[in-house]
Amino acid sequence: WQERHKVEDYKIGYNRVALITGITGQDGIYLTAMLLSPLFMAPFVYQVHGIVRKNSASLPILINLQETLERQQGRKVSLTLHYGDVTDPHFMQQTIHSVKPDEIYNFAAQTHVQHSFFMPSHTIDVNFKGLVNICQAALSLSFAYQRSVRIFHASTSEMFGQTTAQQSDSLMGESFPFNPASPYAVSKIASYYLVRYYRSVYQMRISTAISFNHESPLRHESFVTRKITKGVARIKLGIQEKLLVGNLYAKRDWGHARDFVRGFWIINNQELVKGVRNDSGIDSRQPFEDYVIATSWSMPVLDFLQEAFKKAGFGQLQLMRDNGYEQLCSGERVLAKVDPKFLRPGEVPMLRGDPSKIESELGWKAEIQIEGLMDEMLEYDEQVAKLEMLV
Ligand code: GDP
Repeated sequence: WQERHKVEDYKIGYNRVALITGITGQDGIYLTAMLLSPLFMAPFVYQVHGIVRKNSASLPILINLQETLERQQGRKVSLTLHYGDVTDPHFMQQTIHSVKPDEIYNFAAQTHVQHSFFMPSHTIDVNFKGLVNICQAALSLSFAYQRSVRIFHASTSEMFGQTTAQQSDSLMGESFPFNPASPYAVSKIASYYLVRYYRSVYQMRISTAISFNHESPLRHESFVTRKITKGVARIKLGIQEKLLVGNLYAKRDWGHARDFVRGFWIINNQELVKGVRNDSGIDSRQPFEDYVIATSWSMPVLDFLQEAFKKAGFGQLQLMRDNGYEQLCSGERVLAKVDPKFLRPGEVPMLRGDPSKIESELGWKAEIQIEGLMDEMLEYDEQVAKLEMLV
């Protein structure tokens, strides 16, 4: 297709510069691994730049990834870190003008729903103003150097929020109405409209994925799946007594972060993918579109918990009640218990996405199902728990 497409952007083998905000988070690390892997069949060679906060606890994982990639490939990989924060407009302006990225991935966010109830201003500052700073800096770069930057922004299924009784059986697609139940969801809806504003007013190549929950061994343990797999592994090895959790009946559409970052790249290069799939040539003037990324099936927290204990050899646990709160028991022993401090002031009871648009238009499909995801997380957490036992 190099012959078919005369757009300068698509010269095979040319370097592309990607700037990832929130590079030390789960998605940032998976995307960095993908862009710098020799197995990634993109038509470009990537140089990756990342924005890191000075006190980021996950930095060692990223450094370890860089060393592993360099060992595997027998050469240096191009990964450059910039210490700063998306909430600082001067820093973003300076960084984007010096890096001159072809692609930006905005993962920097206060992503925890529960924390957003206690830190609504901070959540809105990072999640909304961070995106404003990125877009303004990218806009001024394109005016100054006639360079267009493509921007991918991460949106969330939390924006759909609480469903009505009539909606509760429907899959959530791109046109499903928003009904936010947390400051986190509100901040992400505001950012979603910011994406549309920059796209329609300035014709920027900016788009977003409304991603359903995506997990992995790199998911922070304040999220329920990782809290469960870590807890189950530690209980199995005798270094934790029980798990304290919140709402057992919330249902989530859980996918694997590795699948999702592949979708993010495809969305940020959507006209290329559409052109190749339809054999119709790439029209780089086509406006970008937004997509839902999901697996399309959903499971209650209770089932995830039961299944994780079963996989760890505990058999089927009995669901009982103590002082009005549920607990999961193996015989006399309480292995998991609802602690009201993990219940939320606003809860989203059910999330289940409809990925048919991205599947049909961009050819993305979730490859890893919940079974494989849970096995990988449990195995990882068991290894970590064994190391913990050594010290
Ligand atoms: P979220 O969907 O982005 O809020 O992802 P989480 O993993 O934080 O939460 C998923 C669901 O699990 C929510 O409905 C929570 O209320 C529920 N949940 C139940 N127990 C817990 C818990 O101990 N921690 C967290 N984070 N969520 C829990």
